Amino acid sequence: MDIVRDSSLGLAISNLVVNAYTSKCPRTGKPSIRSNGVEEWTILAGVVAIMPQQAHTSSEPLQLVSLATGSKAVPDSMRPYSKGRMVHDLHSEMLALRALNYHLLHECVKLKLGRTSSLVETNPDSVTNKAFRIKEGMRFALFITEPPCGDASMGYLAQSEKFDGMKKTERDERVKGLLSVSYLTNPTSKSNSTEASPTVYENEPPLKRAKMSVPGVVRGRDGYYHLGTVRTKPGRADSPISLSKSCLDKLTLKQFTSFLNCINSLILSSDRAHLSYLVLAEDKFTEVDMTRCFRERFEADCTPFSLLTYKDSGTFPHGKPDINGPKMVPSPLSLVYIPSTDLVEVLNGGVKQGCNLNANKTMKLFTQTGCGVKRGGESALSNYRMFSEAVSRGLISLGGSYNGWKKSHTQREELKKRSRGYLGEWVATQVDDFVVV
Ligand SMILES: [Zn+2]
Repeated sequence: MDIVRDSSLGLAISNLVVNAYTSKCPRTGKPSIRSNGVEEWTILAGVVAIMPQQAHTSSEPLQLVSLATGSKAVPDSMRPYSKGRMVHDLHSEMLALRALNYHLLHECVKLKLGRTSSLVETNPDSVTNKAFRIKEGMRFALFITEPPCGDASMGYLAQSEKFDGMKKTERDERVKGLLSVSYLTNPTSKSNSTEASPTVYENEPPLKRAKMSVPGVVRGRDGYYHLGTVRTKPGRADSPISLSKSCLDKLTLKQFTSFLNCINSLILSSDRAHLSYLVLAEDKFTEVDMTRCFRERFEADCTPFSLLTYKDSGTFPHGKPDINGPKMVPSPLSLVYIPSTDLVEVLNGGVKQGCNLNANKTMKLFTQTGCGVKRGGESALSNYRMFSEAVSRGLISLGGSYNGWKKSHTQREELKKRSRGYLGEWVATQVDDFVVV
């Protein structure tokens, strides 16, 4: 993949997101020090729009579209109680992309009401049947303070792994070996199927399954020496499983499908709706990992993004400690900030902070009301709220349940199915469906 090292654009994007986090976001929702004295950390991500350069300026104007923190995911067992009100994937980069979709939906609403938008315009192309499109020359970058979880962070994880009981020389050899391999596809299976096969290296221990495992699922960091596999979000081996796929797997697919969610993909043309850049700190990834994950796992046309790197001077105050750093724990909260609408939300367990319930209380509420989320507890970014907004504004026409409506758009469903097939086994999450009345 294209990698631009020590990029001034990458550094400018990083500074924009971190400065907004530091100066614009409230203290609530940021990592804190727990009562036992242990400090919390989080991961920060942001989407930045890069406007076309004006003739009289020397650099391209940047606009922060969304910012989010977080490293949690809601267990799969909670999905049936959600009714579209829970945000299941609370990893910072996925939340920042969800917030980008919220912003784009509101830009379309503004145009429909006769107002103007800096990012979106009316689509004159009657062939695509999409009412709006992103303005020409606009590019989008996704900045993250840590490498996204999943297949492309395996070498980075190996570097920070303790390898308990292993001598330093042995450890160095192991890490060197891990970083020198690249993903190899199995030509036999490839000829009969579009599914890629994970590579297993000789003399490596077998893939250990976590206690709470599900057949066909490679969970989080299980057997990180098994490369090229679709993984779920990482989580403690004894915690309830989330079948939400790793951020790397989801980002890889967005090279095919665009960053538009299903609602916006019906309203906006996807032609200009692809990420141009992923922005990561120079020392937080390996080129082998990135190339394997984003480019070598499939043989198909897509719109690839480039990687911009920058030298991290430690300006993000709540970052993950390195292996030799103090003992810290991840914050359970996610913070979302969308500057254009001044939206600030703090999420806990997929709903607004203060509205989260434990599993038993969720089930009890569900039995009483048919929904396991307190009234008004859902995020503005939840599928229920965004779908309701699109329907009430007349941007999409309603037909049955949300999932029924989604499945009826066969072109997008087919594209998703085909692109998932390139990556391998993609185990479905439980259904989370609802009806808007
Ligand atoms: Zn992730």
